[in-house]
Amino acid sequence: MARPVIAIVGRPNVGKSTIFNRIIGDRLAIVEDKPGVTRDRLYGTGEWNGRAFNIVDTGGIEIEGEDEIMKSVRMQAELAIEEADVIIFMVDAKSGLTLADEEVAHILFRSHKPVVVAVNKVDNQGRADDVYEFYGLGFGEPIGISGSHGTGIGDLLDAAVGKLPEIEEDPYDEDVIRVALIGRPNVGKSSLVNALLGEERVIVSDVAGTTRDAIDTPFERDGQRYVLIDTAGMRKRGKVYESTEKYSVMRALKAIERADVVLIVINGEEGIIEQDKHIAGYAHEAGRACIFVVNKWDVVEKDDKTMQQFTQKIREQFLFMTYAPIVFLSARTKQRLHKLLPVVNHVSEQHAMRIQTHLLNDVVADAVAINPPPTDKGKRLRINYVTQVSVRPPTIVIFVNAPEIMHFSYERYLENKIRAAFDFEGTPVRLFTRRKS
Ligand code: GDP
Ligand code: GDP
Repeated sequence: MARPVIAIVGRPNVGKSTIFNRIIGDRLAIVEDKPGVTRDRLYGTGEWNGRAFNIVDTGGIEIEGEDEIMKSVRMQAELAIEEADVIIFMVDAKSGLTLADEEVAHILFRSHKPVVVAVNKVDNQGRADDVYEFYGLGFGEPIGISGSHGTGIGDLLDAAVGKLPEIEEDPYDEDVIRVALIGRPNVGKSSLVNALLGEERVIVSDVAGTTRDAIDTPFERDGQRYVLIDTAGMRKRGKVYESTEKYSVMRALKAIERADVVLIVINGEEGIIEQDKHIAGYAHEAGRACIFVVNKWDVVEKDDKTMQQFTQKIREQFLFMTYAPIVFLSARTKQRLHKLLPVVNHVSEQHAMRIQTHLLNDVVADAVAINPPPTDKGKRLRINYVTQVSVRPPTIVIFVNAPEIMHFSYERYLENKIRAAFDFEGTPVRLFTRRKS
């Protein structure tokens, strides 16, 4: 299910990124097992009181062509209002209430979104009283915190998580494949949606998903039911969104959360750029089944090697996603379009595949026999037992005598052996090493 979004808003230097890093910090420590594919730390995940959420540091979102700070902060606030379920409005006890704070407060106030005021830099008892000045902002009790000392953050999260909306029921049956299309503006996502649905069908029959402001489009093909996630978001364009490319990442993040299969749409005419990598990285990190769709294949000048060359480029650029199949097509001419849904079905199956424990242990035992586990100061890693603990994505726990000896490259080796035996095409596979002697 989609995680709710908490956004941190405030003028520069109040300590947004410091707090953001503290909130996602614990979480990062927990998931240390996976390779860091996203260096872009504007979006992270956190968990508090059993609620998982996405958190956005809007201060890191550059609004293109906007060097004036006030305008930039204003736009960030608007983005937060658009995307977030709860807003943490951060101010600074050291500098006190400023005009810019009041301006932001004004924008937030009109939005009627739940807002928690965090007064940062309350580093000592002396400053505790400074918090009261911010009552005047009109969002209830401000919470004093210190990014430097890490104090008050629990109270802040209590307040923010307490205002999150109730968890929504998943509106779709188990056998419906939820497909999200992500990619930069203009790669052809909406065209691909229309092509999949059949051109004659204008998307007016959208059904509103239960998730606020997301519109999902169900359809059926050859007895398989699908739903295209958030087809509204793709068509929703405004001034703010056009002015910031990062907006599409924020929207994509939400769609990814709700999907089983993510189509990472790339413009075949233009090739791959950095932003494509970020977006793909989120799908990978979220553990979704992934397919690269190279669109606009109709206008690419081709010979018999073009497809192979493009494939190689994708493999080089998305090193951590070699499992994802690549489909070349044209949404406009519908050339090769028929190839897409069978691949969607396949990766969705692989994503939900469960391998019996004895089969898994046989494969790992063979792998260990060929290439023994690493040692450290004379102590050798011993793998006692391997079992798949969940699906979507397949998640495998390796029980060992001493997890600290496990090495990333050895995990990688085991993953490759597991893939060689069971396929898992199109899906990330998560491996965790735990102690059990
Ligand atoms: P942002 O621009 O809002 O993201 O702010 P930053 O997180 O980059 O912080 C701005 C400055 O404030 C940095 O120099 C931080 O080290 C400092 N800072 C952050 N939190 C605290 C705090 O709790 N107390 C003090 N004294 N300084 C802080
Ligand atoms: P989105 O922003 O990703 O939803 O992209 P759109 O679907 O709006 O498409 C952007 C532009 O690319 C439009 O002018 C489309 O007509 C064009 N386009 C989309 N798919 C194709 C394709 O397969 N081939 C060609 N030549 N143009 C395409």
